Amino acid sequence: MKTLLDALHTTDSPSVPQLVRLLAARNDDGNMLRDAAIACMTRHVGDTVFLRGLVEVSNRCVQNCHYCGIRADAPVSRYRVTEDELMQAAHQCNRLGYGSMVLQSGEMPSDGYVDFICRAVEKIKKSTASDILPSGLGITLSLGVLSQPQYQRLFDAGAHRYLLRIETSDARLFASLHPKAQSLSARLEALERLQSVGFQTGTGVMTGLPGQTLEMLANDILTFRKLNIDMVGMGPFLPSDNTPMANARVLPAMERFQLGLNMIAVTRLVCRDINIASTTALEALHPQGRLLGLQWGANVAMPSFTPEKKRIFYTLYNDKPMSATVDGVVAAIETIGRKVGLNAYGDPRHFFSRLNGTGGEKWGTE
Ligand code: SAH
Repeated sequence: MKTLLDALHTTDSPSVPQLVRLLAARNDDGNMLRDAAIACMTRHVGDTVFLRGLVEVSNRCVQNCHYCGIRADAPVSRYRVTEDELMQAAHQCNRLGYGSMVLQSGEMPSDGYVDFICRAVEKIKKSTASDILPSGLGITLSLGVLSQPQYQRLFDAGAHRYLLRIETSDARLFASLHPKAQSLSARLEALERLQSVGFQTGTGVMTGLPGQTLEMLANDILTFRKLNIDMVGMGPFLPSDNTPMANARVLPAMERFQLGLNMIAVTRLVCRDINIASTTALEALHPQGRLLGLQWGANVAMPSFTPEKKRIFYTLYNDKPMSATVDGVVAAIETIGRKVGLNAYGDPRHFFSRLNGTGGEKWGTE
């Protein structure tokens, strides 16, 4: 394991078998993987954890992803937060010193919905501007696949990061998870559009999907690198009632959890100066899930600021933790010996190395 981890420091192109061995590491090998990921994180992005206040803006969705509890056909009450609720969340984030917000929702590619988000973004930016953050809170969007003009309008309104998971880089696995109308290539094209508009661009996958192999996960990580992605959010697949995958056969919970942690660590070792989020899905499998994600190489946490009355309807999967809120987040992060980056954007360093040409094909920034 040590030789393999050392080799990863110097190689320009890790192989799939090398990454598979790392993803399979457990016990002592697993701890070595974790320590290497933390060393890599500290060296390339530092050990500060940045906070983003997450608002799940709407669970209305036109898509029918087989795994997702807010798919169009799911019998769940639909909501959209009001502009007032969004502004309240923004002010709360600001008061608590969170440098950024994430606005996430189901996919609604209508211009009316994009208008609503643009207005909200403009208002949030203006009303949270201060001496410390002259242009207001940083804003990340996660609204699914939209057109180039729609992405451009959202960017012009002041959002500067966008997350769009590819879910898996394996076209056949992707096809088994989605209706025919959706394709992996459409997501990849959307990521290209986001990068060309100028967004700091994030993607990610689910881990422990039925039919997913370690080779596929290794290829996912190589794909993040090849796409020159700035941010990654990943989490274990969790079956969701009222979806075609409600009874899917999955690895035991702790296996899926460990795989989720190992994916974070190996992604850190391969992509180095990106931001990696420790996600709610980890917490659904382990009460300390999100802290453990940080201890395996993640450097971003996204506590929920969705109004509680609405949060209960953002049911992506079963047993979604509803208590993963703001209370005690900073203190909890400090108990694991990490600093919290308050009143700062915490932009991914990779975005800047990508822009000035030191990222990308040229391996690493050492
Ligand atoms: N509509 C937006 C946001 C989707 S929700 C978009 O398409 O990008 C954000 C993420 O939740 C999805 O990308 C997916 O990876 C994850 N997710 C959905 N259902 C899930 C499930 N059953 N288990 C684990 N993660 C899930």
